[in-house]
Amino acid sequence: MLNVKRVVLRSRPGKNGHPVPENFRVEEIMTSPELKEGQVLVRTLFLSVDPYMRCCMNDDTGADYLLPWRLGECVDGGGVGVVEASKNQALSVGTSVTSFNWPWQTYNVMDGSLLQKVDPEMVDGHLSYVLGAVGMPGLTAVLGVREKGHVTPGSHQTMVISGAAGACGSIAGQIGRLDGCERVVGICGSDQKCQALVTELGFTAGINYKKGDISSALREHCPTGIDIYFDNVGGPISDAVISQMNPSGHVILCGQISQYNKDVPYPPPLSEDTQKALCHKNITRERFVVLNYMEKHEEGLVQLSRWVKTGQIKVLETVVNGIENMGEAFCSMMTGGNIGKQVVNISD
Ligand code: NDP
Repeated sequence: MLNVKRVVLRSRPGKNGHPVPENFRVEEIMTSPELKEGQVLVRTLFLSVDPYMRCCMNDDTGADYLLPWRLGECVDGGGVGVVEASKNQALSVGTSVTSFNWPWQTYNVMDGSLLQKVDPEMVDGHLSYVLGAVGMPGLTAVLGVREKGHVTPGSHQTMVISGAAGACGSIAGQIGRLDGCERVVGICGSDQKCQALVTELGFTAGINYKKGDISSALREHCPTGIDIYFDNVGGPISDAVISQMNPSGHVILCGQISQYNKDVPYPPPLSEDTQKALCHKNITRERFVVLNYMEKHEEGLVQLSRWVKTGQIKVLETVVNGIENMGEAFCSMMTGGNIGKQVVNISD
């Protein structure tokens, strides 16, 4: 028998509540490592915590592509690990594998057909990047910018990114710069994050939304107005950005994290002024969902891998250790504790 630690959902925060680590509980179970034909035993290396999981904590996720986590059951999300035993011809022992539905357990017996192989070369040996820059958040950045951003090299565009120091935002801004924006300005929640944006990631400027007046900072750093807005947060930050956008600009509606602890539909309703600004200035604001572009994922990952390996894109991560800290890591990410992608290292 194998001793396994796992994380179960103990309680729901409620649609109008803030998640706390106590919503989760860590359990130890004994499980049989015996495999049926087609199955593999995987050891978990890294688990991801992501904002969409806040929806999974509600009994109704509000999204048809997301299932709610069940009370008292093991929760799941993005994970990466290594095959330790195999009865699946396609997955030999030692192979690195990933899945979007990886149970939060130290070891899992899984059907091999539910796993994707990972080539460690693709991520420059950093397997955690599969959950970030060369994974779903990286794809969200590149496909969001390219499908909805309308970046036109040589046209002196200014891009603003909210949630700029997070997993998607930190990559989106770098892609805006690589694709030819003249100015790339990030909005985030601390001076330390602003500094990282400028000195490590090559953003033109960083604005700390918790300090001072965002509108005047935007006027200072975006003197020719804003052409493209990669929106991760919504709420008053987005109202301030959209009010300074140029005619025929584009909002990439990626996420609205400032509203995720409220009982509102997605996307949340806009203020009347913002709605008017969008309409009068003919600004597009189309909802972007990375899962709607599955056919572009493979090519996107190859592009992201190339950028990361050549150093054109820098990767920032916040790594917490231990499955006991999954709930803590999730809540910390939801309140800005991370710079770059928040991951949890489960084993080495
Ligand atoms: P991040 O790594 O950006 O982590 C979340 C960040 O949100 C925190 O670090 C915090 O940074 C910021 N934040 C939290 N609360 C607020 C608030 N009230 N106002 C402003 N900022 C806040 O997460 P991801 O990169 O994984 O996700 C970013 C966004 O992208 C989310 O909205 C998510 O739902 C969305 N997303 C959308 C996808 C799609 O297909 N459309 C796919 C993946 C993600 P700070 O210190 O700056 O406050």
